[in-house]
Amino acid sequence: MRSTPDKPPLGPWHALAAEAALELARTSAGGLTQAEADARLQTHGPNRLADVEPPSLLARLLRQFNNLLLYVLMVAALVMALMGHWIDTVVIMAVVVLNAVIGFVQEGKAEKALQAIRHLLSPHAVVLRDGHQREVDAADLVPGDVVLLASGDSLPADVRLLLARNLRIDESALTGESVPVEKRVEAVVADAPIGDRLCLGYAGTLVTQGQARAVVVATGASTEIGRIGKMIESVEAGTTPLLRKMEAFSRTLTLVILVAAAALFLFGLLVRGMGAAEVFMTAVGLAVSAIPEGLPAIMTITLAIGVQRMATRHAVIRRLPAVETLGSVTVICSDKTGTLTRNEMTVQEVVCAGAVMAVEGAGYAPEGALRIDGEVVATEALKVRLPALHALAEVAALCNDAALHERAGQWQLAGDPTEGALLSLAGKAGLNPTEMQVERPRLDLIPFESEHRFMATLHSEGGDGGTRGEARVVLVKGAPERVLAMCANQLGADGTIERLDDEHWHAEVEAQARAGRRVLALARRALPAGTEDLDHADVAAGLTLLGLVGIIDPPRQEAIEAVAQCCTAGIRVVMITGDHGVTASAIAGQLGLGEGLQAITGPELEAANDAQLRELVRNTRVFARASPEHKLRLVRAMQANGEVVAMTGDGVNDAPALKQADVGIAMGRKGTEAAKQAGSIVLGDDNFASIAHAVEEGRTVYDNLKKTVTFLLPINGGESLSLLLAVLIGVALPIAPAQILWVNMVSSIALALVLAFEPTEADVMRRPPRRPDEPMLSRFVLWRVGFVSTLFLAGIFGMYEWALWHGASVETARTVAVNTLVAMEVFYLFSVRYLKAPSFTLQGVKGTPRVLLAVAAVFALQLVFTYTPFMQGLFATTALPLRTGIAIVGVGLTVLVVLELEKLLLRRLGVVTG
Ligand code: ATP
Repeated sequence: MRSTPDKPPLGPWHALAAEAALELARTSAGGLTQAEADARLQTHGPNRLADVEPPSLLARLLRQFNNLLLYVLMVAALVMALMGHWIDTVVIMAVVVLNAVIGFVQEGKAEKALQAIRHLLSPHAVVLRDGHQREVDAADLVPGDVVLLASGDSLPADVRLLLARNLRIDESALTGESVPVEKRVEAVVADAPIGDRLCLGYAGTLVTQGQARAVVVATGASTEIGRIGKMIESVEAGTTPLLRKMEAFSRTLTLVILVAAAALFLFGLLVRGMGAAEVFMTAVGLAVSAIPEGLPAIMTITLAIGVQRMATRHAVIRRLPAVETLGSVTVICSDKTGTLTRNEMTVQEVVCAGAVMAVEGAGYAPEGALRIDGEVVATEALKVRLPALHALAEVAALCNDAALHERAGQWQLAGDPTEGALLSLAGKAGLNPTEMQVERPRLDLIPFESEHRFMATLHSEGGDGGTRGEARVVLVKGAPERVLAMCANQLGADGTIERLDDEHWHAEVEAQARAGRRVLALARRALPAGTEDLDHADVAAGLTLLGLVGIIDPPRQEAIEAVAQCCTAGIRVVMITGDHGVTASAIAGQLGLGEGLQAITGPELEAANDAQLRELVRNTRVFARASPEHKLRLVRAMQANGEVVAMTGDGVNDAPALKQADVGIAMGRKGTEAAKQAGSIVLGDDNFASIAHAVEEGRTVYDNLKKTVTFLLPINGGESLSLLLAVLIGVALPIAPAQILWVNMVSSIALALVLAFEPTEADVMRRPPRRPDEPMLSRFVLWRVGFVSTLFLAGIFGMYEWALWHGASVETARTVAVNTLVAMEVFYLFSVRYLKAPSFTLQGVKGTPRVLLAVAAVFALQLVFTYTPFMQGLFATTALPLRTGIAIVGVGLTVLVVLELEKLLLRRLGVVTG
């Protein structure tokens, strides 16, 4: 039977036996060769779902017009046209189009930023190629590949299971069934519905438990999920609570302004007795001046730029609200291994009955001497001379899933670092793990899980490949208190079996842990000949302890610095680890979390009720022997205390805690797909320092959003106050409606965009966290908006009247007023870049290249606006003499000086700090 492997997609696969499925997929249990996989990739294409068809450019552009403000403007343009004001009609329509184009470009930019991040989140798969285990991009999988699955993996393609151990898969993404399905290798009847095809696994579903080996039967669009055409989003698009609030605020403001404009229209018409056309122009002027047109778009782009900046610092945002929440985090709960420490494990000491051995060498190279009291241990005839060490090294080599490879003189690890350290130890003791694994293959295993904290493998005692009838042995390694509890005996120095000296071993464990070493105990037990399967009962008691190993995992230097940084930023760092309490406290000391910290352990957590737990989490910095289930309770208890919690995690069982946390942080490297899907942030380098950076960026984004609002609102405020005042006192408008649109849509947006790129302020990580309920329009911001609006009003009106007083025409006086407004904006930009700190510093005056570019652009645009005949025709402007120009710049500068004095005063009065 030969046919193309993926046609029909899944029809026969579940009705075929595993061997037949391999044959149909033209492959073997050992997988494909790389050459064959490459060839198949050519025919089948990458294992990826086509992105959802994006809306066409035209549709996207048209969508921009669907906006309340633009409706208002379009109606105004229509009325203007009916009244024969052609120039105003053209200007307003130009603004409408410009606004839509700006929205279009911004949206494109934000979308691009998210696209780039999506790429960073592409999943990986472990596959057999050329007979070796390799990690590849899931996109490179082809039908016929043999993949290895473990708990926490997301299935990279549709597969037919070949081997399954305790395998449970959450298929809710496909079937909606929330209870994980127990999978089996046996074929099922041909007409079984999807949910009953127990020997198949579908792309996009999650392994919640167990391990498996499977052959890929369909990839990309041929998969079940591809056929449904459903995309699993790796990055959730959308908005944040703050942006939603600001959008709602802009909408309400627009409505209020429309009502005010209508009132103004009636007031002008009935009270002031103005002409209908003139008063209509004024009302339109008020509407366009008061509405912050650019605000929502600029806030969106500020957020998108923050997201991009975080990505360059290894924090990939999956859910946008996290950007905001990051800025108010009060406690970061971090895993220890790999996040706070380097996860480069090296065995430093081995303790057997009657001997403590120091182990030399660094990294994973299996080279380095073992010494007892300074004397080098000869590795020849180890079995006879040091039987306990030999037996311990045997467990280290066989009860192990990792592999070490030498490449260009460098020893590289594939697998878990703790296990890598043990392989290296076995090598130093003169064993060859690779050969041993071939000679004494594993017959069964109990895999390591954080909850059980041990791993066990079944082997034949001799070297005959495990024929029936041969003696069997189970080899166990794990956390010492777990393993010691399973042991009845110990292997003595002379190779005889003695009764376990429990006290002695606990003291040795304690001594290792105090030195900050991770401790593992290794043990074995003979099992009856012919044993085929391993069960928890086989290892529950009666084991013989071989010894302990003490492994160091030094703290990351960057983590030490980041912990100190968090401390000044008012953020508590809490370590949650599966490691021993004493080891954890020792490492916490090295990290600067505090000396001699008392660790609370998992069992103590379990004993505490919710109220007690809330007390416990208030002061505890280290939680040890904690399993993922404890994390959820910890997060809840902290949240109940009013904390904003960031929590890291990597395993499938960490997912609930990651979801519950205010900011769930999944590990990008060692994290499972399940954790990544639950987290709102994925850390590209698993490094604690990146979390601190993300917090810093989160605070910066919030600052920049606040600066944007504080910058834009007073411009609208100043303009509308000027108009209202003019109508109230019955004089001509100091700025014409078309000119206001020019300022709002050109100068303001060019300047405000700069704020999206503002660098982090120096004191960002010296402030306490922002209260999550702090309003964006805080009392300080409202005061600043009101104050600056008044300054702008004074500048606009003052200069307008000053020009008229000097005999200028209304056109010239208006040109002066508009230019004054823009000059004030430019100087205000320098002020707003530091909301509370002084701007008259070298750095503040120099600005950034972007600031200078924007200012230069606005200056050039104002020259065009004032001096070119075309613009003069369009906006009714006139050329101004140089001295007027100087006076205008002088007014702008005055605004900056006044605001600096205000900052100084507020600081002196202690109203604001910083
Ligand atoms: P965290 O990442 O939360 O700091 P951890 O890596 O320190 O956690 P676990 O991986 O849950 O914690 O390990 C807990 C304990 O289990 C370790 O202290 C060690 O004694 C034991 N252990 C770790 N890895 C293995 C393994 N591969 N086989 C057997 N035992 C192990």
